[in-house]
Amino acid sequence: MEIIKNARELQTKTLKLRAEGKSIALVPTMGYFHRGHLSLMQEARGRADVLICSLFVNPTQFGPNEDLESYPHDLERDAALAEEKGVDILFAPNPADMYYDNHSTWVAVPELTKNLCGASRPVHFRGVATVVTKLFMLSQACVAVFGQKDWQQLAMIKRMVRDLDIPIEIVAHPIVREESGLALSSRNVYLKEDELQQAPMIRKGLLRLKEQADSGIRDCQVLKNNLIEFYNSELPLGTVEYIELVHPEDMNELETIDDHALCAVAIKMISARLIDNIFV
Ligand code: AMP
Repeated sequence: MEIIKNARELQTKTLKLRAEGKSIALVPTMGYFHRGHLSLMQEARGRADVLICSLFVNPTQFGPNEDLESYPHDLERDAALAEEKGVDILFAPNPADMYYDNHSTWVAVPELTKNLCGASRPVHFRGVATVVTKLFMLSQACVAVFGQKDWQQLAMIKRMVRDLDIPIEIVAHPIVREESGLALSSRNVYLKEDELQQAPMIRKGLLRLKEQADSGIRDCQVLKNNLIEFYNSELPLGTVEYIELVHPEDMNELETIDDHALCAVAIKMISARLIDNIFV
């Protein structure tokens, strides 16, 4: 496996690979790999000749009071894990390799990012859309794999690729979880023991909501109220930031479930903000 830090060097290499007729798959990440990241790599490995994994803690998607400075990192460990998963190129640039001092161009998909995580993280999705576009250009990938854990991000990227005619296939990968049901996240390392004990209730509540919907409760307000009550009693260390039932593609909030819905939640634990979702 080759580690490339410079953006120009990566693009020179990938343009050459494409000219030779090679297909390229991309897995964009912020590193500190867990089994979720590794299963994205595994999924991508079978889809192209060359597998690139990017590892970049993108400053433009963090708000001023977020964890940019403290985001966990361990390049050596990540590189060993990526190599084991068959990654050919690990692209690990510094912010200065990715952004010019006077960077002035932004990609945004406001329609899909005004609610859910976009409501509390106003610059987040613009930063993600911009860096993912840059990564698509630099990697010359024909296919990219994203996790359903960040469903709103995935919906935004699919829409962006469609609207901008970017020649890339977007593959969605299911959420990888702990045995307890807790969705894997690099930020789980922030959680203290008592928070870790309670955090699986996030998933339990979502499963309960799905059961209620399957048994015929279609009124979203009723479903949301039941879930808030469940979290208030079973997850006292967490504060609900949002619980929403939305259309799985356009992210519009629903009043009743007529066909399918996505229930997405963000819970502020004491030491980390956790997100999860379930398809209903
Ligand atoms: P991150 O490093 O957190 O930015 O995540 C990089 C990619 O991994 C994104 O496409 C995420 O959606 C995906 N991902 C993160 N956690 C999980 C998980 N538990 N299961 C599946 N995919 C995940």
